[in-house]
Amino acid sequence: MKTYIIGNWKMNFTVGESSLFLHKLLQKTRNYRDIEVVVSPSLMALQSLSLQTDRRKIKLAAQNFYHRDFGAYTGEVSINQLRTLVNYAIVGHSERRYIFNESDKDIRAKVAAALRVGITPILCIGETESERTFGETADVLRDQLLGGLSEVSAEDISKCIIAYEPVWAISGHGKEARIASPLDVRDAFKLIRTILKETYGKETAEETPLLFGGSVKSTNAESYLLLDDCNGLLIGGASLIAPEFLDIIEIAKRVKDERA
Ligand code: PEP
Repeated sequence: MKTYIIGNWKMNFTVGESSLFLHKLLQKTRNYRDIEVVVSPSLMALQSLSLQTDRRKIKLAAQNFYHRDFGAYTGEVSINQLRTLVNYAIVGHSERRYIFNESDKDIRAKVAAALRVGITPILCIGETESERTFGETADVLRDQLLGGLSEVSAEDISKCIIAYEPVWAISGHGKEARIASPLDVRDAFKLIRTILKETYGKETAEETPLLFGGSVKSTNAESYLLLDDCNGLLIGGASLIAPEFLDIIEIAKRVKDERA
């Protein structure tokens, strides 16, 4: 399986800045077949970046979309409208769940909509700090995982990517995020694989990519990438700094080669 390095630019960069940043990344990114590099710019920049990028090096992801294909939904953009622009779409990010009150119902409809048009959904799941404190992590992960995948047919499960993103480890929300220890992440990955295995079978569980996200930087990326179950990283803040993001790609390549 490939290693996925996915940068979530969130609501940063103008269209012009996004283009300059992508240009910088494209100049320095090597075309590694076993490392899938993806960036997720603002919706505004997707059209121009899709023409600019070299998809052999860097593919694009949408940060958000509406699950219906067309119709009277003022202000929304459907995944069908994004179909020619992106290969991936982030779904269920904690910022969408908790700031924009996206429900499990919305999230499962989006996962299904992305698959319907041939786009790989990156389903984000993760517990909040208080859920962790109250010992609810396993239940939350189970609910968000199975809830998000509930409209997906068994044979399509492994076409989804699952990103474990504990909310308490995500940066940019005022107070300093906590850094998840590799042991915390290992335990969550084990649990997610077990749930996938019990629900969809061993083969599907093993073929479904599992990513980690939460304050990943070049200084800690390796510690997560070395975990047995880790198939890549979803990176917010550090993906906005070109040398950091490029370093993480190189670290992923080195870890991949060492494990081959
Ligand atoms: C994210 O928003 O998906 C994320 C992981 O952000 P950060 O790396 O900044 O914590």
